[in-house]
Amino acid sequence: MIDNHGRKINYLRVSLTDKCNLRCIYCMPEICPKLTEENPPQMKINDVIKIVNGASKLGIEKIRYTGGEPLIVKNIDRLIYETHKQAKIRDIAITTNGIFLEDAIYDLKISGLNKVNISLDTLKNDRYKKITRGGELNKVFKALEKCLSLGLKSVKINTVLLKGINDDEIIDFISLTKKYPIDVRFIELMPLGEGIKYYDKFFMTSKEVLERFPELIRERENEISTAELYKLKDSIGKVGFISPLSCKFCDSCNKIRLTSEGKMKPCLHSDEEIDIMTYLDNEEKLLDKIRYSIMEKPKEHHIEEVHKTNTHRMMFQIGG
Ligand code: SAM
Ligand code: SF4
Repeated sequence: MIDNHGRKINYLRVSLTDKCNLRCIYCMPEICPKLTEENPPQMKINDVIKIVNGASKLGIEKIRYTGGEPLIVKNIDRLIYETHKQAKIRDIAITTNGIFLEDAIYDLKISGLNKVNISLDTLKNDRYKKITRGGELNKVFKALEKCLSLGLKSVKINTVLLKGINDDEIIDFISLTKKYPIDVRFIELMPLGEGIKYYDKFFMTSKEVLERFPELIRERENEISTAELYKLKDSIGKVGFISPLSCKFCDSCNKIRLTSEGKMKPCLHSDEEIDIMTYLDNEEKLLDKIRYSIMEKPKEHHIEEVHKTNTHRMMFQIGG
């Protein structure tokens, strides 16, 4: 579908849960209000299947399952299998912290998953434990290698730039692209949820990285992407920059989002939400609501001016 600003919307990002096995410092508070299946009520797998089926009828071709942590959701392989049955869906992706990925990836791949993004902000064991408040880095690396051995269409690492916390490792992340055929993408920290507390002290722009590493060569773009892609001369992978603040990409935004509570979000940074749970058993109305959500997409956000997002939600509730 084409939205009110001439953009083709073909990508749905779904938060499957607001729960997580980790507590990354800029994403989730150490102690969360008690989160249960009922409070707040979360979508069930069958609800998501109905919404994805509806969205595919409106031109959605790519689905990303995220969270919270999508791999703690029971029967996610069935969800991926059902998603894959939709002829119009050509890409099924997950964004995960990678901790449970090594055990899950084989079943997910044969169910139809073809793209994996792994979030990883440090390559040092102790630092990883601190940033994630308890995660084990070796599990993430085992998962990365297993994904590559299974030959997924795309494996990416997403790294949030945190000045003074992980910027001394940028070179090590870039060097991963010499060893692995992956995209390593640096993401600017957004002043959203817990990120607001870290933004003033630790925010770093993509531009600063590019100034430090002039050996990165700009790639010619051949598909719509939120990342600007670069490459080292002798690498097998690529280096991407996702710069929602310093170089916003609203003009080419092609996505809508669905929260784990079943609310459509036309834009990550707007507070507008459209509840679609009431319409799950009425496909005509469900399609109307999804269509409406697409048409409600604002032209752009203004966080680069006000340094604060308009959404009251945290990243793990919306699905980063
Ligand atoms: N748990 C999964 C994971 O970590 O990949 C999926 C959900 S997590 C919310 C998705 C992504 O959002 C992660 O890459 C995380 O680093 C990113 N994220 C969370 N808070 C952020 C913020 N304030 N600014 C930028 N990225 C953020
Ligand atoms: Fe969990 Fe992902 Fe947020 Fe880390 S970034 S706390 S892994 S949802």
